Formats: sequence, C-alpha cells, structure tokens
Amino acid sequence: MTTSTLKLQAENIHKRFGSVEVLKGVSLTAHAGDVISIIGSSGSGKSTFLRCINLLEKPHQGRIVVAGEELKLVPGANGELGASDPKQLQRMRTKLAMVFQHFNLWAHMTVLQNIIEAPVHVMGVPRDQAVEIARKYLKRVDLAGMEDRYPAHMSGGQQQRVAIARALAMEPEVMLFDEPTSALDPELVSEVLKVMKNLALEGRTMVVVTHEMGFARDVSNHLIFLHKGLIEEEGKPAQVLANPKSERLAQFLSGSL
Ligand code: ADP
Ligand code: MG
Repeated sequence: MTTSTLKLQAENIHKRFGSVEVLKGVSLTAHAGDVISIIGSSGSGKSTFLRCINLLEKPHQGRIVVAGEELKLVPGANGELGASDPKQLQRMRTKLAMVFQHFNLWAHMTVLQNIIEAPVHVMGVPRDQAVEIARKYLKRVDLAGMEDRYPAHMSGGQQQRVAIARALAMEPEVMLFDEPTSALDPELVSEVLKVMKNLALEGRTMVVVTHEMGFARDVSNHLIFLHKGLIEEEGKPAQVLANPKSERLAQFLSGSL
C-alpha cells in the first residue's frame, strides 16, 4: 500500500494518570478504508488511547499523524504533550470525528442544530450548505425528517445515529467510535451497528472500541486486543478471535477476564 492512503498513525502513545501508566506505548496505523476494532477489559486503556489520538487527553509520549499531517506537540511543565499550534489542533480534530458512548449531543439544540454546529462555527461552512449536508447524513442514518427534534425526545439508538450524522457532517478523514452501543438498550444496538456497517462498506476509515464481537469479526479488517496499556495481540479479526495466541485474550473471550 502507498503512503498516500495513510489516514492515521498513532505511534508509541504513552499516558500516565498520576503515577499510573495507563498506556505503555500503543501504536496503530489506519489506511483508507480500514476498520480497526479495539477490544479489551474495562480499564485496559481503550478510551484513553482514542482520546489521546485527538488530544482530548494529552499523552506523555508519542506521535500522531492524520492524513499526512503530523500534529505538532510540545511538552508542558507537567510532562504532558500539548498542541503547540491550537489552530492546527482544531483543524486536525475536524478530521478525526469522534462518536462517544453517551452520544454527547447538546440537549438544548435540535438535531439539525447539533449537526451543523461544528461545520458552521468551526469549519466556516455556509449555513445553507451545512443544512444540506446535515440532511444528506440524516438520511444516511435513517433519520430523514427528524431535523427539528430535541435529543430528549428520541430513543438512545436515534440519538447515537444523530451523533454519527454529526460526525459525518464534518467529512472527517477518520471516525473514532468509543463503545458506541454500550449505553443502549439491547433492542437498539442493531440499528446503530447497521449504520456503522454501512459506513464501513462505503469505505470509511474507522477505529472502533467495541464489545460487539460480531461487529469486530464481520466488519473490521484489523483487531487490536489491549491489555493493561499494551497491545497484547492483534491481527485479522476472524483469525485472532478463532485462534487467540495469548492466554489473556483467550480468557477475555471466554468472559473470565
Ligand atoms: P477502558 O476504556 O479500556 O475501560 P480507560 O482508558 O477509560 O479504560 O481507563 C484506563 C485506566 O485509566 C483506568 O484505570 C482508569 O481508571 C484510568 N483513568 C482514565 N481516565 C482517567 C482520568 N481522567 N484520571 C485518572 N485516571 C483515569
Ligand atoms: Mg472506555
């Protein structure tokens, strides 16, 4: 594969909280169209890793390159790496749309306002154009006609699909998902997974922290098992899941870790 298809490189990410080292050198490379699932026990560092990629958490060490552009980092007094160029960080974040477990929609805004907020106010897209883009992606997540609803009047599955439409409206290079179905009632999980599967089929580049092993096996083309801040095992999902080499992964998959 040529470097032109490289969408995301996170190299050797280290992160401590106090004296606890939560990430001990985690790396990930995503090319265009890759869908990478990250699995692991609670507390293994999955969310922290995703959050370091877009600097919602400041790593202590590491390198982040998005679509060929390296994020400029400088160490602060506390040893954490921060963005040396806030404008660059803002631009890079628009390329790395994040979907959270708890949707994180703005409750006081309608669906439409939620979706056009970043395009209009961060990216400077003209409002009319942003509305058009919002409508396109609402249709894509099966929520056409829901523009004027407020999040509180929607199911969790609908809210998460709004959050996905909001991420899509930024036309990101890479979509980061942090357990997007874990907060949902079981009967609402499949509608969100279906939307995500369609995004994968469209060739979107996605990094997905998930407990949905079916999704990991059938939709992603690379699987990472994180254990105590390190990649314990990674590879082709079907192979890794059917034939784990690591004892810890075997335990995790059997539900005993
Ligand atoms: P996961 O998403 O795999 O469940 P996290 O990345 O959320 O794991 O957490 C990894 C470890 O870091 C846990 O021990 C957690 O308690 C700790 N941690 C996460 N965020 C913070 C924080 N803001 N301050 C202190 N410790 C944190
Ligand atoms: Mg987490």
